[in-house]
Amino acid sequence: MRVAVLKEDNCQPKKCNSECHAFCPPVRNGQECIILDDRSGKPTISESLCIGCGICVNKCPHDALIIENLPDELDGEMMHKYSLNGFRLFRLPTPSKESVVGILGPNGMGKSTAFNALSGSLTPNLGDWMNKDPEWSEVIEALPKGELRDFLIMVRNGEIKVAMKPQNVDRLPKRIKGTVGDLLGRVDERKMFSELTEKLGISHLLDREIQQLSGGELQRMAMCATLLREADVYFFDEPSSYLDIYERMRIVRIIQELSETKRVIVIEHDLAVLDVLADLIHIVYGKKGAFGIFTPARSTRQAINTYLDGFLPEQNVRIRSKPITFLNHRDRQVDIGDPIVSWGGLEKVLGDFKLTSGEGAVHRAEVVGVVGPNGTGKSTMIKILAGEHEYDGGWVSSGVKISYKPQHIDVDFDGSVQFWLDSELGHKWRSGEFNVNVIRALGVDELLPKKVKKLSGGERQAVSIAICLGRDADLYLLDEPSAHLDANARMEAAKAIRRTMEANEKSAFVIDHDVYFIDILSDSLLVFEGEGGKHGVAQGPFRLREGMNKFLKGAEITFRRDHESKRPRINKAESRKDREQRNAGDYYSFQT
Ligand code: ADP
Ligand code: SF4
Repeated sequence: MRVAVLKEDNCQPKKCNSECHAFCPPVRNGQECIILDDRSGKPTISESLCIGCGICVNKCPHDALIIENLPDELDGEMMHKYSLNGFRLFRLPTPSKESVVGILGPNGMGKSTAFNALSGSLTPNLGDWMNKDPEWSEVIEALPKGELRDFLIMVRNGEIKVAMKPQNVDRLPKRIKGTVGDLLGRVDERKMFSELTEKLGISHLLDREIQQLSGGELQRMAMCATLLREADVYFFDEPSSYLDIYERMRIVRIIQELSETKRVIVIEHDLAVLDVLADLIHIVYGKKGAFGIFTPARSTRQAINTYLDGFLPEQNVRIRSKPITFLNHRDRQVDIGDPIVSWGGLEKVLGDFKLTSGEGAVHRAEVVGVVGPNGTGKSTMIKILAGEHEYDGGWVSSGVKISYKPQHIDVDFDGSVQFWLDSELGHKWRSGEFNVNVIRALGVDELLPKKVKKLSGGERQAVSIAICLGRDADLYLLDEPSAHLDANARMEAAKAIRRTMEANEKSAFVIDHDVYFIDILSDSLLVFEGEGGKHGVAQGPFRLREGMNKFLKGAEITFRRDHESKRPRINKAESRKDREQRNAGDYYSFQT
C-alpha cells in the first residue's frame, strides 16, 4: 500500500519550479500521477499511479512530500483519511473496562484524531475521504467482534460521555478567567469538589486567580476539573508535565482508583510513570503528519521494553535506529574537569520562603540533574549560582556567563523557526557538530519553515533547547526541558545536552522530574528537600546513585531494575520488594 502525503505548510509553489511534476517518471510518460492545481499550483498525487520511486521527495526544495510504502497487512485497517494526500490513521486504541490504557508514542501520529473518533465527535470514514457524511454502521461492521466494536456501538447510540484533560495546561490562563474555585465549582458534576481538591492538594488555591498559577498548579487544577465531570471515558493527555515526583505518584493513585469504575486512556511520556500507571499499552508509530498506526494493546512491561528496544516484532517494524539503553552508573566514566562555580552556606529569603544550601561545586563538562519537590527553590538557587539573583548569606565563587531556558517558553516571535534561530544564534547552527548533535537530533531541521507561533508544545520545547545550547556560555541552565517532549525526544534531548557539554567542556544544570531522563542525562545530582513555598534545602551535587537514593528516600519511592532491559521500574508501594529495599536503604537499586 502506498501513501503519498503533501505537507501543506511546506509546499510553496511560488518559490519552486514544480520540480515534483517536472521530474515524476509516470508524468513524463504521460500519466496523470501528479496534477498541479490551476490556481494554487499545489500538487495532488495519485497513489495508484505513483511507482514509489521517491524522485519528487528528493527534488522538492521545500521538503513538502512524503511517499511511503506500508505493509499489506494494514490493508483494510484504515480508520480515517482527511484528504487525498492528507493524514491517515490506522486502527484505534481500545478503551477497556476497569483498566488504565496507555498510549505510547510521539505526538502528530493521530492521537487526537483517535480521541475524536472514540468520543463520537468524528465519524471515521475508513479512508473514503470524499464521503463527508460517513455512517457509524459501516465502521462497526468493518471491525471484528470484540471490545472496541462493542464500545463503538455504544458511541453510535450516544451512550458514551467523555471527559478530557488537554495536553497544554499552560494555555489555560489565556482561555479561562476567574478563580480556581469558580472554575471547579462550575464543572462539579460528580459532587466530589471537596474530596478531589483535597486529594490533588489544591484546596488552598481555590481563591487564586487562574492567571497566577504555576505550571504544576495548573496541571492539578486541570486534572481536578476533568475528574469532577461525570463521564464514561476519561482521557488524560500528558498528566505529569510540571508535576514533581510526589505529585506524579499522587496522580497515579487517583487515576488508578478512577479506573476501578470508569474507562481511562492516558498519554504519558514519562516512562517510569506510565509503567506504574497503565495496565495495557498501545504503541503508536508512523510518520508525523503523514500516517499513524496503533498497535494492538500489550502488557505494560512488554510494551515499554519493546518501545525502548525500537523494534516491533509482531509488525516487523523498526521505530528507532538504535535501542535506548540505561547505563549501569558504576561503569560510567566521568571525566570532569576543574570546578567552574562553587558555593557554600547560601541563604535566601523570598517573602515567606527560605532557601538554604550546603557546600558544593559544579565542574567543567559536568551535567548536574536538579531534583526535588516543586516550590523548594530549585530555580532560585540556580539563578543565584548564575549571578542573576542576590543572596542573603553564604558565598558563591564569581559569576559565570549563563544560557537559560525557562520552564515556560513564552515566545511572541513573528516569523519562522529558521528566522528565530538566525536571530538568536547567527549562522552557526547551520553546520558542524552542533547541527548534527542538536539541530537534527532534536528534529529542529524539520521545523525550519514553520511559523514559531504555530509550533506545538513539544516543537517549541525542542527549538528552545536548541537555542539555549547554541548560545555561547559557561553554564547552561535548563528548567524542565522534558515537558511536552515525547519519550523518544526526551532521550534525544538528554543525549544532545550531554554531548554539547562534553564537546565544549561546559557545564549544565537540568531541573527535571522525569527519572529516566535524569538518569540518562546526569553525572551528578543536586537534591532539594523541604516544603513547597515554605522552605528548601539544597544538598550536593552527589554522585548520581547516591543522589537518587537521597532523593527517592525523601519521596518514599523505590526502583528496581527490569531483568531484561535493565531500565529502572518503580516498585508498587508496600510490595515485598518495596519494603525490602526501603529497609536496606536501597531506593535506586541495580537489582532486578
Ligand atoms: P496527535 O494528536 O497525535 O498530535 P492529530 O490526530 O491531531 O495527531 O493529527 C495527526 C495529523 O492529522 C496532523 O499532523 C494533521 O496534519 C492531520 N490533521 C488533523 N486534523 C486534521 C483536519 N481536520 N484536516 C486535515 N488534516 C488534519
Ligand atoms: Fe511520481 Fe510517485 Fe515517483 Fe513522486 S514517488 S516522482 S509521485 S512516481
